[in-house]
Amino acid sequence: MPDVFADLVGQDEAVATLRHAAAAAAAVLRRTAREDEPGDGVDPSAGMTHAWIFTGPPGSGRSVAARAFAAALQCVHGTGCGDCPGCHTTLTGTHADVRLVVPEGLSIGVGEMRALVLRAASTPSGGRWQVVIIEDADRLTEAAGNALLKAIEEPPPRTVFLLCAPSTHPDDISVTIRSRCRLVPLRQPPAAAVAEVLVDRDGIAPDVAQWAAAAAQGHVGRARRLARDPEARKRRDAVLAVPRRLTGVGTALDAASALIEAAEAEAEAAVAEADAAERAALQTALGAGGTGRGAAGAMRGAAGQLKDLEKRQKSRATRAQRDALDRALVDLAGFYRDALTMALGAPVEPVHTDTAAVARAGAQKWDAEGALRRLEAVLACRAAIEANVKPRIAVEAMMLTLWRG
Ligand SMILES: [Zn+2]
Repeated sequence: MPDVFADLVGQDEAVATLRHAAAAAAAVLRRTAREDEPGDGVDPSAGMTHAWIFTGPPGSGRSVAARAFAAALQCVHGTGCGDCPGCHTTLTGTHADVRLVVPEGLSIGVGEMRALVLRAASTPSGGRWQVVIIEDADRLTEAAGNALLKAIEEPPPRTVFLLCAPSTHPDDISVTIRSRCRLVPLRQPPAAAVAEVLVDRDGIAPDVAQWAAAAAQGHVGRARRLARDPEARKRRDAVLAVPRRLTGVGTALDAASALIEAAEAEAEAAVAEADAAERAALQTALGAGGTGRGAAGAMRGAAGQLKDLEKRQKSRATRAQRDALDRALVDLAGFYRDALTMALGAPVEPVHTDTAAVARAGAQKWDAEGALRRLEAVLACRAAIEANVKPRIAVEAMMLTLWRG
């Protein structure tokens, strides 16, 4: 059985830090258990702290690292063996003392954060730690960030906060929160390391694994999906066909529409199942129908709850759409990066081996400067959408630049 850190691809330094911390945390628990005995003079808490930030580019495994560390903290052996009930329940998401916040909308609100902080202050039922994992901590609202900061400033003795964010830039994480957390920087794993994982752990054929690892640009989850899911491959092919199709204003605008609509369709498919299940669960909980005294009041309450659910689902759909569009833009950026490195004659492997010939033709036609302008247009489009520009407007502007150069 591989231990809980086995999924952290190419992150030796971070894994060493986390192993050390888990051992220190186990020592703290042991010392607390025999409080009345004389200490041995060594501070067992060195190496462990109550608040951590995992940073790194998308796909580097921020949440994988946070979950693995949470498992190691709950491990009955204190190591993250991967086999004991503590490790197992943490990794499957059923441990009573591990709370995972995955924002479904574009931000995590203050209500959710207050409730979480309150529950996190209780005594761990398993006798080890209360662990709170916040994925995408950069999506906290300011008020939610303040609620979290308060908890981190005056931490309950057995509570550990694990935050995940793209970076420690003040736009992502407030400076005050950052100053109270220990940082675990993760790097983008090399394609070879990602391919190795796909072969060893997922049983994917080596040639497919290598192609998918390169095409996913170091994103492990994306590589796995490309290797396994024909739909994901089809969507990627459609995106990479865009550069060849841009022959005029009309085709550029058509390509923009196609890209937006594909992202919408992908997002819809991704959230449809969850939406239906949630609606059904809520309707069951509220009880369909009902007459007599109190029924009218109950109906009013139900309408409010349904409205609330719809609001959350809408926000999740928006987020899924943006994520789908962003994946497409990352693929497109990879293509123009290939054209740029070819125009420069740089000795690097292409991101997309299957469109290398098209990229080479582009490199000859556009030169390095033209390839760079196009790459910059894709990156500017991502930045604009991130800054809340309407996706259609940003994508249309990008397509026109990709055509004209
Ligand atoms: Zn274990």
